[in-house]
Amino acid sequence: MSELDDAREELLSLTASTRALVLQLRDSGAEELPMTPRGAAARATPPLEPPPPSGDGRLVRAPAQHEPPARPEPQVEAQPTQPTHAQPQAPAPMSGQPFTPKPTPRAAPPEPPPRMLVAREGQELDLVQRGLRLETLASEVAACVRCPLHATRTQTVFSRGNPAAELMFVGEGPGAEEDAQGLPFVGKAGELLDKMIGAMGYARDDVYIANVLKCRPPGNRKPEATEMASCEAYLQKQIDLVQPRVIVALGATAIEGLLKVSGITKLRGTWRLYRGEIPVMPTFHPAYLLRTPADKRLVWADLQQVMVKLGKK
Ligand code: SF4
Repeated sequence: MSELDDAREELLSLTASTRALVLQLRDSGAEELPMTPRGAAARATPPLEPPPPSGDGRLVRAPAQHEPPARPEPQVEAQPTQPTHAQPQAPAPMSGQPFTPKPTPRAAPPEPPPRMLVAREGQELDLVQRGLRLETLASEVAACVRCPLHATRTQTVFSRGNPAAELMFVGEGPGAEEDAQGLPFVGKAGELLDKMIGAMGYARDDVYIANVLKCRPPGNRKPEATEMASCEAYLQKQIDLVQPRVIVALGATAIEGLLKVSGITKLRGTWRLYRGEIPVMPTFHPAYLLRTPADKRLVWADLQQVMVKLGKK
């Protein structure tokens, strides 16, 4: 057989194969012959290889090419736990539960202002404290040299009676008997005063008795204004501590020392106020009544007003 015959036979074989392929494609519904462009095979992306199976046989998803490789997480150095003093955070409200705002801590109430000093020292003191304060004051008086009377006194005369009395009697100053005994209103004048006190319905020591002056003026003379001024603070403290409801001023010097006014004849039997607070009844001194007994009825009338004021009558 010639080469021509071989070529012809090969061509016929090829034609037959092509026809068979066309028929097969037509039977499968294909409308076009699959064409492979020239050089396309060289540019074609090689098909992705299936991902390698995992150890248990499951497929492991290969990373997408557009995803950057995962960057290693920065290692955070473990810090030692430190106690924190930060303000505690309010817990977040739990779902399904009504939110109840945590009440804001109230600011501490402002400090109350310091209590005002009472105008009169005895207002907030009990009986024991008053007695102690009066004893302290008496010690101060015993050492007092504020005026010249200290040079001629035998001893100071501070007071006698109840430091919580509702009724207080104030006289002028110590006489000879008082200077000797160290107590006010002893002797004849004191005895008369005690009778007056009893007539009012009080025991002798139910009341408090003091003088404007704590030292005896020589010869029982009238006190000087400077001497009264020097001694005034002591009587004022006594009244502050005792806090009597009523004061009876006995004699002209007592009225002048307490009320800063004179004229006992005019003032006697009329109510006045000591420092605008404590009622004062001016009346005659018991020593005057010893010399002028007829005026006892006037004094008794004054004391009856005091009894009414104190609910004794
Ligand atoms: S009279 Fe009064 S002020 Fe004068 S020395 Fe005596 S306590 Fe002091």
